Amino acid sequence: MSRYVYDFIEGNKDLKDLLGGKGANLAEMTRMGLPVPPGFTISTEACREYLRTGAMPAGLLDEVTQHLRMVEEKMGKPLGDAHDPLLLSVRSGGKFSMPGMMETILDIGLRDANVAALARHSGDERFAWDSYRRLIQMLGKTVFEVPGDAFEAELAAVRAAVGVRSDADLTAAQLQEVVQAYKKVFHAHTGREFPQAPHEQLILAIASVFASWNAERAVLYRRQERIPQDLGTAVNVMAMVFGNRGENSGTGVAFTRDPATGRRGAYGDYLPNAQGEDVVAGIRNTMSLDDLATIDPKAHRRLLSIMERLEQRYRDLCDIEFTIENGKLWMLQTRVGKRTPAAAFVIAGQLVDEGTITLDEALQRVTGEQLAHLMFPSFDTAAAPAPLATGVPASPGAAVGAVVFDSAAAAAATQPVILVRRETNPDDLPGMIAAQGILTSRGGKTSHAAVVARGMGRTCVCGAEDLEIGPDSFTVRGQVIHAGDVISVDGTTGHIFAGSVPVRPSPVVRYFEGELSPMGDPLLSAVQRLLAHADHTARLGVHANADTGLDAERARRFGATGVGLCRTEHMFLGDRRVLVERLILATDDAEREAALAALLPLQRADFAELFTAMDGLPVTIRLIDPPLHEFLPPLEELTARVARTEALGADPGRDGALLTAVRRMHESNPMLGLRGVRLGLVVPGLFAMQVRAIVEAAATRVAAGGDPRPEIMIPLVGAVQELETVRAEAESVLATVTGAPPIRIGTMIEVPRAALTAGEIAEHADFFSFGTNDLTQMTWGFSRDDVEGAFFGRYLELGIFAASPFETLDTRGVGELVRTAVDRGRAAHPGLITGVCGEHGGDPASIHFFHHAGLDYVSCSPFRVPIARLEAGRAATTAATASDSR
Ligand code: PEP
Ligand code: MG
Repeated sequence: MSRYVYDFIEGNKDLKDLLGGKGANLAEMTRMGLPVPPGFTISTEACREYLRTGAMPAGLLDEVTQHLRMVEEKMGKPLGDAHDPLLLSVRSGGKFSMPGMMETILDIGLRDANVAALARHSGDERFAWDSYRRLIQMLGKTVFEVPGDAFEAELAAVRAAVGVRSDADLTAAQLQEVVQAYKKVFHAHTGREFPQAPHEQLILAIASVFASWNAERAVLYRRQERIPQDLGTAVNVMAMVFGNRGENSGTGVAFTRDPATGRRGAYGDYLPNAQGEDVVAGIRNTMSLDDLATIDPKAHRRLLSIMERLEQRYRDLCDIEFTIENGKLWMLQTRVGKRTPAAAFVIAGQLVDEGTITLDEALQRVTGEQLAHLMFPSFDTAAAPAPLATGVPASPGAAVGAVVFDSAAAAAATQPVILVRRETNPDDLPGMIAAQGILTSRGGKTSHAAVVARGMGRTCVCGAEDLEIGPDSFTVRGQVIHAGDVISVDGTTGHIFAGSVPVRPSPVVRYFEGELSPMGDPLLSAVQRLLAHADHTARLGVHANADTGLDAERARRFGATGVGLCRTEHMFLGDRRVLVERLILATDDAEREAALAALLPLQRADFAELFTAMDGLPVTIRLIDPPLHEFLPPLEELTARVARTEALGADPGRDGALLTAVRRMHESNPMLGLRGVRLGLVVPGLFAMQVRAIVEAAATRVAAGGDPRPEIMIPLVGAVQELETVRAEAESVLATVTGAPPIRIGTMIEVPRAALTAGEIAEHADFFSFGTNDLTQMTWGFSRDDVEGAFFGRYLELGIFAASPFETLDTRGVGELVRTAVDRGRAAHPGLITGVCGEHGGDPASIHFFHHAGLDYVSCSPFRVPIARLEAGRAATTAATASDSR
């Protein structure tokens, strides 16, 4: 028979699959001898079994009873005892943290028969009644689905009747009244009395935590965070300790370093005379950890020394939850803490400096996504008006949008919005995902809004106390902001501005541009150091997709070691479109040659610019790819123009000729039509002109003392004969020009047939570059321009896609073609160079795939070059060094 229950002393931090993150870390702390209240963890396996069958797994309840006995022994009192009750907390805890998404039930064991005893033992009658009313509310809501509002209404009624604003002002007798009212609410909604058997309460609470794995908000959160849906949650059952037992008790959340900036030193929020949920829910504004040093220096010292030990053990930033009960410190939770992208870089650098981790490990502590986030712009504070108010800067970034006051409105909005709430709760998740930024008037850096926003990389300011938030407007120092008004929210400083504030580039980008020195700046120097190490360890090179000299220069500043794709069709737009029209309308060789001759010098100049920018580095130039009609006016527009002219009795002239050409070229599905190499074979002289422009530009650069390294790339090849023909033509052109360097000729692999016949093709190619955009659309059989809006949302919802296959490579399908082509290509042509130039070249997960598939380089847009460099380095360092900071 399976075993489902583990005492805290039996586990350790590496057993997250079985015990969930919280359970594994409680076990680790127990092993370290830290003051963790006694308890046990019910495994994720039990939850999976429960979810599968809808019933408690066989033997689980006996195991729970056995382990409960051990807790009772350690605490020296039985669960729910009438004279001296042991009370329990029952908390969820999956492998990955899902803040506030699943259930927590406190004070299990409290009942009519022992409230008085708890009051006597604690010497605090008020506390006992308060705990009991919380239990009825929690079990009622979570297990019996009594609407939370029904309880809140009773509490509000008692507050109003006695004329106080806060629950903390209610007396014991008044809370006892609340309990009576709650019990009535419970009975009215369930048809039964509130359960009085402690054991029954415990079993119900465990079942409710299991079931909360599938709560709507939890499912949504996992989808958003790409956490698998089938893991299940563990359940942690632990003896209760009380932070709400008066002024020498309290509860807090702390980080071993500042999770926003990475600055060294303990950082946290403390709330005297409160239970843990009060801090996390952000319902009351908190004190800082430094205040605790004044209130209770002994507990504060102990806490700091424990935090130091935890950092050493986890070798990373830890966050913790603790409670002080009558001056005694208890550790309720720890884990490797979430952090902002800036903090991730700063901390990784610090830990290397402190000798705690190696540079390889440091690379595993940061991600390309985080670096991308740091490259976002922020507000231009010089151009900003005086802030309306300032709150707690909880998650950095610059968000501008129209104000909305509820999650549904945010989720439905088509314009950028800022979600403004007094505080958020897990039901607000859809709105938080949809909004550009989140603003709350209550709660600190560890409130729900802050934790969730940081996790999603969403801008958030919380605890802006000056805001008085109503249902459809907020007031701040007399100024009223209505729903729909635009505001700007600065998650880095906490400032809130009326109107739209201009944004300025990120310092990280300015550093890449060479405008800022990393010296003395902790973030920039960490970025510099980690990227240098990534370059050192990476096996994949990083090239850029760049069509102009300016793009290529930027790509080079950002660390690209070549251009992997120059899309030459972009050079035919603008003023030059008429020349292309002339080429298309040419009725004889002479006209066509004249059009090509006019294009030649322009193309030559384009290429010379690229070669100058990338002097000494490869520049892969793709010959023209898209269907020619893309250079002509749209059919509808032309038809209308010609009809109008003819109606006036005039001759449509050039428009008439264009219309005839457009009609002739019209294709129902041009992405599968006359484009790429097919065009080169059908339109005489087009490719030859481009090859001539390349080689002449190269020769000119050499003559000027440069070191051009052009490569010619043929798009959309599906059959080796296509490549052979074009290659022969290109070589004959190359042979006519002297003074140019050797020029490689290769092909894109973007048609499934090319991948499958890569062995033949490789014999005539110096390199392969995977065009994974086309390869994805052709492998799946869907048009990249049409489908994303049409049905990808539904496919993501159904789990058919984990991510859009145009963003993250579909490794099972398209990836298999890449692997096949690399293997067959290399077998036939051992020196074959392989790269990728589709959008996936800048996507972190795909880069790891390309590394393992053995490609030589990835090529991506200039802005993604640093991200690709980082991920190429990360892919090359061993996964064994990974730390779980998710
Ligand atoms: C590709 O298909 O992946 C590619 C890089 O070419 P394009 O996106 O220009 O078709
Ligand atoms: Mg393509």
